[in-house]
Amino acid sequence: MQFERIPRVTRLLDPRKDYAETRIESEIRMDPLTGFSGRIAHFATGPWPTIDLEALNQASLTRGCPFCPEMLTQVTPKFPEEISPEGRFHQGEAIVFPNLSPYDAHSAVTVVTEAHLVPADKFTAKQWEDALAVSIEYFRAVRHYENHIGYGLIGANYMPMAGASLLHPHLQIYATDRPGNWLKSQIQASQRYYDEHGKIFWHDLINAEKSLQERYLASTGSVEWIVPFVPLSFIGDVEAIFPNRYTILDLKPEDIADFTHGLLHILRFMKDTNIYSFNLAFYPGQSHEDLTWVHARISFRGMINPVLHSPDVSVIRQLLDEPFTTIYPEEMTKNLKPYFRA
Ligand SMILES: [Zn+2]
Repeated sequence: MQFERIPRVTRLLDPRKDYAETRIESEIRMDPLTGFSGRIAHFATGPWPTIDLEALNQASLTRGCPFCPEMLTQVTPKFPEEISPEGRFHQGEAIVFPNLSPYDAHSAVTVVTEAHLVPADKFTAKQWEDALAVSIEYFRAVRHYENHIGYGLIGANYMPMAGASLLHPHLQIYATDRPGNWLKSQIQASQRYYDEHGKIFWHDLINAEKSLQERYLASTGSVEWIVPFVPLSFIGDVEAIFPNRYTILDLKPEDIADFTHGLLHILRFMKDTNIYSFNLAFYPGQSHEDLTWVHARISFRGMINPVLHSPDVSVIRQLLDEPFTTIYPEEMTKNLKPYFRA
């Protein structure tokens, strides 16, 4: 397992130090699975300002919310009977219905909570467990109808800075045989790794991170948590790995409970550090032959300049497809670890 870093040093005459020569470090890193590069640079971001959630809440309700309970049953679509005889899937507060703007033939939305605005630290474990379990129930119904689902993808944009068009907590879920460039590259690289080493990459990754103790966070039951060597977010990412689970339908209720346990730790960290937004994606294989253990990434999102509402995706990410992160993943691990001990 290779964790390749290319350190860089910039020499400049620094106006903040009376033009004395200053050396600024940055780093290029290669993802140990795909070889994709990313940068650790621009360390002068944060601390993050407090956001007035109540003002955001009020602004978001001026035109009503289709995911609030009083409107949901009036304005959201229902599934054809062969997918769901009742039209929608329910568990606890969570509800799954078809996405009016589908990403693929089988594409749905899971509303996580009845409440319109839920601050990061106010979610209950049951809300996330129900939302994830009922999403998987939808995939089972699709499989029953189609005999296969391809890749059962679950994603979330929590809060506007993560690209959410509505404040109301919800997931995007869809079944597809085209998993997208990122997951496709990971699966191809996992298969190459297996051919070369005779082992599952994710098995070796967990062992390598556990022995290095630089980016390993903890286990919550069966789920292993690390900070990825090459984050995708400018603030940082966290990754959960589900050992010996290959497809989204392999996830059992106890796996979901173990994942949720860790997620709640991360949500508390977010609250304490004024990180208001994250993207979440599950990366499953479509069968055991993909040789990929299910893993999920939580990618913190924010604004690069909150005063100007500048988004965190700029030319380097958007057009050069190069992620950069403003904090070393090893630092992020130190910051997050205490939350996993509580
Ligand atoms: Zn709502």
